[in-house]
Amino acid sequence: MHSVFPGGSLPDGGSGSGPAPGRTGPAPAAEAAGTPVVEVRGLVKRYGAKTAVDGLDLVVRAGTVTAVLGPNGAGKTTTVETCEGYRRPDAGAVRVLGLDPVADAARLRPRIGVMLQSGGVYSGARAGEMLRHMARLHAHPLDVDALIERLGLGDCGRTTYRRLSGGQQQRLALAMAVVGRPELVFLDEPTAGLDPQARRATWELVRQLRTDGVGVVLTTHFMDEAEELADDVVIIDAGRVIAQDSPERLCRGGAENTLRFTGRPGLDLGSLLKALPDGSEAAELPGAVYRVTGTVGPQLLATVASWCAQHGVMPDTISVERRTLEDVFLELTGKELRS
Ligand code: ATP
Repeated sequence: MHSVFPGGSLPDGGSGSGPAPGRTGPAPAAEAAGTPVVEVRGLVKRYGAKTAVDGLDLVVRAGTVTAVLGPNGAGKTTTVETCEGYRRPDAGAVRVLGLDPVADAARLRPRIGVMLQSGGVYSGARAGEMLRHMARLHAHPLDVDALIERLGLGDCGRTTYRRLSGGQQQRLALAMAVVGRPELVFLDEPTAGLDPQARRATWELVRQLRTDGVGVVLTTHFMDEAEELADDVVIIDAGRVIAQDSPERLCRGGAENTLRFTGRPGLDLGSLLKALPDGSEAAELPGAVYRVTGTVGPQLLATVASWCAQHGVMPDTISVERRTLEDVFLELTGKELRS
């Protein structure tokens, strides 16, 4: 049987949270890793005169985490809600698990998990009841008690939704999104407002979903979260994708990939440049700081260290500064992610 959480860490739901009547048989197998689970081509979505999404392409694959980043108003929510079937495209094609999210909504809903920021919840319901209710809507739910424990909600099972803290509501929303063992989940800022421990538990759960072949689409304002979790980062601005790649490849290259060392003033830059690989640059900055840019890696570090040794230079400091996703984002959009 397909397991979202192999190794028995979260067993299948038992009779307490059991399958909906008339829905038995094996849980649907997740798509093979790498299979597109979301395919968006040329998506256009307008609100009156405002074009919120302007010819956007996006592919998300099974067994991967895709982080969708963008400044406020970039079109992230509109794109994700279109994939979830809550909005109808004005132009372009959207397929989710091979289906049309609007026309095939009834078939799609049981197969996808959606974590919403808030809303749509009866605030007088108890957390445990809500999750059990959600579990009953699915043929092969996860074990509710195990999920509650895993997300650190053990003490809140009998607490009404309105009395949960913001972080507990967040974790409950995550639990509701995954309890039905979806093949694809949409997580909207899943760790906003969480303490470090809850954040880590959420990350672990996302990694587990990926391991099980689930496709995960994540919107986040945390760059470290995207760097930690995402196989693919999609940066959206003004309704278009302006970059899509792995965090590693997006961060590679650029002037911020820099090696700096402090020596003595007036070192022979010409000689240093000759020792460096083609395409490198070297400059002396105030304070006898030397900046070397190029393909910064172990080879360049070794070359600089060796050059220093040959020239009797003992660097006081030597450091490598890699471009972060935050730098990339700022460069591409001209905006800080938080605004
Ligand atoms: P944020 O990070 O602030 O949530 P976002 O990237 O999710 O932003 P969207 O919510 O998709 O962006 O909005 C894209 C654009 O469409 C914005 O200019 C927004 O004001 C506009 N917009 C979104 N929903 C509506 C609506 N229902 N009616 C009119 N305009 C809308």
